[in-house]
Amino acid sequence: MGKLAGKVAVITGGSAGLGLATARRFVSEGARVFLTARRAAPLDAAVGELGSAATGVLGDVTDADDLNRLHAAVDAHGQGLDVLFANAGTGRFAPFGTTTPQAFDEDVAGTLRATYFTVQVLLPLLKPGASVVLMSSAAGSAGAPGLSVYGAAKAGVRSLARTLAVELGEREIRVNVVSPGYINTHPENADAVAYQEAGAAGIPLRRVGQPDEVATAVLFLASGDSSYVTGSELFIDGGRNQV
Ligand code: NAD
Repeated sequence: MGKLAGKVAVITGGSAGLGLATARRFVSEGARVFLTARRAAPLDAAVGELGSAATGVLGDVTDADDLNRLHAAVDAHGQGLDVLFANAGTGRFAPFGTTTPQAFDEDVAGTLRATYFTVQVLLPLLKPGASVVLMSSAAGSAGAPGLSVYGAAKAGVRSLARTLAVELGEREIRVNVVSPGYINTHPENADAVAYQEAGAAGIPLRRVGQPDEVATAVLFLASGDSSYVTGSELFIDGGRNQV
């Protein structure tokens, strides 16, 4: 029997990268997954690959109406929500001096604000015993050039997980956060010598991570294997955060 047998899960940003890798793992462990993403073609492809255990809900997590449509789709399924992986996030490399107020607002909205309101909108569906996993980044605690806005927004996500763990504990809802380092989410990353070198240089394990290594960590936090873990942060970064 799978670790998520009979469970209903939402994964935001589920059509690609770490969200899709986690969706594959969740489905293989018996979950029914609702995926949301902004573009129809990749979302349809992900749902097609995952089969009848997956439902795609097109939408942008920065948009209140789209979040309400996601809520309605899960609600219509009629079994509540056991796992929420708030994975979607955006950010761009930009030296500190070049960041405009507009870019700042967009990146904070796409990461911290979107995560905040994804949890708030879906909270009524979360059942006692549910698990919420928020996506942060090693850049939310370790300094990284060009990531001043992204890092600050991801630091906010880390903080949010701790506060929600305290507020939602009495409802038996656990809230934890994952913080990946350099993960090889796209084929082009594998070919990018600069990416490999820049990444590996500061990583004790001397390699970038693979999406499956993040999915395994998210599964641990989503499943009953972590039943007494809440308010914790799990780094999946090859030790990057320690140097
Ligand atoms: P990706 O670009 O491969 O996939 C992003 C997914 O999120 C896509 O499905 C996209 O449609 C969706 N998405 C993005 N913004 C969205 C929005 N506003 N509304 C709905 N869907 C949205 O990205 P990834 O590398 O898998 O990253 C996923 C998360 O992991 C992000 O929050 C990112 O910051 C975080 N992260 C990634 C790495 C890494 O090295 N890949 C490291 C640390 C943290």
